[in-house]
Amino acid sequence: MKPDYIPRLAPHERIVGIDRRVPVLDGSMLRYINLDNAASTPVLREVLDTVNRFMDWYASVHRGTGFKSRVATQAYEDARAIVAEFVGANLCEHVVIFGKNTTEAINKLSYRLPLVPDDVVLVSQLEHHSNDLPWRARAHVEHIGVDALGCLDEAHFDRLLQAHAGRIKLVAVTGGSNVTGYMCDIHSLAAKAHAAGAQILVDCAQLAAHRDIDIGRLDDPTHLDYVTLSAHKMYAPFGTGALIGRRDTFEGGEPEYRGGGTIEFVSLDGISWADTPDRDEAGTPNVVGAVALAAAMQALKRIGMERIAYHEAELTANALERLTHIDGLRIFGDADPQHAAHRLGVIAFNLEPHPHALVAAVLATEFGIGVRNGCFCAHPYLMYLLGLTQDELRQVRISMEAGDRSAMPGMVRVSFGIYNTIDDVNMLAEALGKITRGEYQGKYTRERASGEYSALGWSPDLSAHFTLSGALRQAHPEDLARMER
Ligand code: PMP
Repeated sequence: MKPDYIPRLAPHERIVGIDRRVPVLDGSMLRYINLDNAASTPVLREVLDTVNRFMDWYASVHRGTGFKSRVATQAYEDARAIVAEFVGANLCEHVVIFGKNTTEAINKLSYRLPLVPDDVVLVSQLEHHSNDLPWRARAHVEHIGVDALGCLDEAHFDRLLQAHAGRIKLVAVTGGSNVTGYMCDIHSLAAKAHAAGAQILVDCAQLAAHRDIDIGRLDDPTHLDYVTLSAHKMYAPFGTGALIGRRDTFEGGEPEYRGGGTIEFVSLDGISWADTPDRDEAGTPNVVGAVALAAAMQALKRIGMERIAYHEAELTANALERLTHIDGLRIFGDADPQHAAHRLGVIAFNLEPHPHALVAAVLATEFGIGVRNGCFCAHPYLMYLLGLTQDELRQVRISMEAGDRSAMPGMVRVSFGIYNTIDDVNMLAEALGKITRGEYQGKYTRERASGEYSALGWSPDLSAHFTLSGALRQAHPEDLARMER
């Protein structure tokens, strides 16, 4: 059923900085079109407003006795409850542990699970490095293969479950790919993992701002044992992420970071650890980040996850339709616009024969469009999708290790958020059409070490737009005048 649809989900004033114009090569200023939401989203106005309001009450949390400390502590614990609710967790069965980001959350879990090197962790080949490398360090990792469209190969998953029966401790998969937008059928994978005696972690870094997440009750075979997410991909870029997981895992054992906040009592020869989540949040927490994340979650729920999914599917279907008609443009993953509702609004492509880094540079330099290019921290997935041979992979590795990124394979990626519009898609398609016809002005050269292209003779003055000292001057003009007197 179509939800009650409004064309622009997030009115412009709801997104901070949305109308910023940026300089382009011909000397004009264009509205910046941000199509890099899979990396980080801009901040929602209501998140910033909440943070600003909270700053009046900001104070030390947990052990402060002052009134403001009590208010700040309450806000921090309220944020924890809101994060739990956002993923359907129940704080009797689950715990919400705040940390820096998804990467930290997954690393934390890798230390807190009682793994031995012989234990098996099944990791999909779709994964971001952050949901692969931590497991390689702690257990025997087997990678679940993907098919030609970059979708998880469930038959291979089943075979691995059988082949390693009794040894599999965890299945680690992404909820949504940051490359192809493919969404794993997480609850069906969960049921299979549980039937095999394993637990499941779902990396929701990409999913959380775009779809409802339901971690489920522990007695439901399709439940998720652990979920991780990052606030900077959810319109709340204040440096927080969260690990939400089954409480029993964190009730015992030792934290990977030790220090203030993690203990009940310390003597010269002994430590009594605090209960979780304190045991797992060493040092002073990022209270502002937690408040911002909770505000973003409430804002997203208010907008409606179903409406968000619908809006982004419209943009994705439209983009797929437009892009497939551009000469030389090859989309990786499922390019069928009819399937847009069943994937995320993340589209990776190449515009052959142009190098990915050149396409990204021209889009930014001449059209004011921000995208991303490269391998998106998912080398095994990218290399597979690009069809590189073992020999080619070896060559790439040798060049990279020698500090030469000029031949690094990769793709261009666009990704949508709640505030993007069909206008943005049109601008992208027009710009790519021009690039493929050679209708761009700059002469571009590539730098060997970074692999990036820049237009000859163009070096826009970044400090004309923002500098820290300039921002400080604006905030306190009277201090500056006094100092200059
Ligand atoms: N997993 C996925 C799927 C991601 O897209 C990202 C970020 N690109 C991460 C994990 C890591 O997130 P963070 O950088 O916030 O730790």
